[in-house]
Amino acid sequence: MSGKVRFETGTITEMPALEPLLFELQREGRSGRHVRGGEAADALIPQAFKRTVRLPLPELSEPQVVRHYTHLAQLNYSVDAGMYPLGSCTMKYNPKINDRAASLPGFADIHPQQPDETVQGALRLLHELQGLLAGISGMDHVTLQPAAGAHAEFTAILMFKAYHESRGDTKRRRVIVPDSAHGTNPASAAMCGFDVTTVKSDARGNVDLEALKAALGDDVVGFMLTNPNTLGLFEERVREVCEAVHAAGGLVYGDGANMNALLGVARPGDLGFDCVHINVHKTFSTPHGAGGPGAGPLCVKQHLEPFLPTPRIVRDGTGAYRRVGASAHPLAIGRVRSFVGNFGVLVRAYTYIRTLGEEGLVETGRDAILAANYLLALVREGYDVAYDRTPMHEFVLTAARQKRQGANALDIAKALIDEGFHPPTVYFPLIVPESMMIEPTETEPKETLDAFADALLRIAKRVETDPQAVHDAPLHAPLRRLDEVAAARKPVLRYKPA
Ligand SMILES: *Cc1c(COP(=O)(O)O)cnc(C)c1O
Repeated sequence: MSGKVRFETGTITEMPALEPLLFELQREGRSGRHVRGGEAADALIPQAFKRTVRLPLPELSEPQVVRHYTHLAQLNYSVDAGMYPLGSCTMKYNPKINDRAASLPGFADIHPQQPDETVQGALRLLHELQGLLAGISGMDHVTLQPAAGAHAEFTAILMFKAYHESRGDTKRRRVIVPDSAHGTNPASAAMCGFDVTTVKSDARGNVDLEALKAALGDDVVGFMLTNPNTLGLFEERVREVCEAVHAAGGLVYGDGANMNALLGVARPGDLGFDCVHINVHKTFSTPHGAGGPGAGPLCVKQHLEPFLPTPRIVRDGTGAYRRVGASAHPLAIGRVRSFVGNFGVLVRAYTYIRTLGEEGLVETGRDAILAANYLLALVREGYDVAYDRTPMHEFVLTAARQKRQGANALDIAKALIDEGFHPPTVYFPLIVPESMMIEPTETEPKETLDAFADALLRIAKRVETDPQAVHDAPLHAPLRRLDEVAAARKPVLRYKPA
């Protein structure tokens, strides 16, 4: 596309070398329909339902449309295209058999409102998945309703509230989170109407136990902890942390987004957590670019069971699977989702777990940790490590030194695009200046890890000699630097021809 394209909120001067946009290709009367007898079929539509005004859609031939979208897809970066080391997101490869299972007609072509007896296979899969996740997390019960990790946090804090209220304990108003927490943690607590208290991390990157104890009191609903935390470090005093919160009458929420590292290593239920969410779209495959779709099952201990959302998926005495509504569970917080998370994502998670088996899951966790430690050993030659301990499945570098040399973490991330890699997470966790959070996952072969390390080290060298070149990156991407603030604040959602 040469020249300028006018969008509603301004002018984008630099368009990628795309094919012309569909609206500009269109010619009146052109169509992709080659169905004999189409007019006869149209005649069957009752007059009242017929469109009276033309849809303002471009008129194009089928290959024009197919090529347009194929080219757009080729501009996209995905886990199928290359390594995606986006820390905290666990962008692992999604085995194709998962997609195949999710697209089986018995799973793909059913509707949540169908009677239970017509969807026994789907309900059985969900019931078995609940059992598998309970076993993996060391918890007693599981709800598959939440559609994401953040949604599970919200669900759990509502359950914490119901738990305290059921005991006549109504003065609790505060939820505590560490300063390393993912932003969804305080946001979920606030959405449930609670105040948020932040406690700092200590010099080793753990939650500061003394600061936590000082923040605890009889007004505390609970504490939200990610383990391994967002620095990729195992919380060394996790049992003491849980005990301290419980001693103050609070509950401990486990943010299980980093479950990938724990597979076969530790179970949150054994460490003292009262509940934990699992981002099945992270740990159990289904890469979730652009915010979805995902699913965030919530696994809870027995004492939280009465408050779980309804309907629940159970197996009755006859062996049939049923959904049981609120009348059987008077303390339940109600429904948090129309049905369950995103059903297709849950089918993928089930398939992934069943194909790996217990042995495979243990290997997954260990390989993820091995990959991160291997990669860190290679790149520490060029970068400083934020909290220098043996990491779990991911690690956090700081580009503070590079910033002083003239190129910051964002510049390095953009330079990685020119090297053919998706950038890591940058500027999170917030407690590390110029942070670069790298999670290779267990699915990358050694050669890819080596190539990624080489790219990072090359960039570090370039920062030393020619920081401006790094600052100017990317040079070879379809688009150069984007105005991310304008994209979020003033999104251009509708094309308007010039
Ligand atoms: C991804 C993530 C979340 C939120 O999960 P979503 O499924 O994206 O809502 C929460 N905490 C941590 C540490 C995460 O990495």
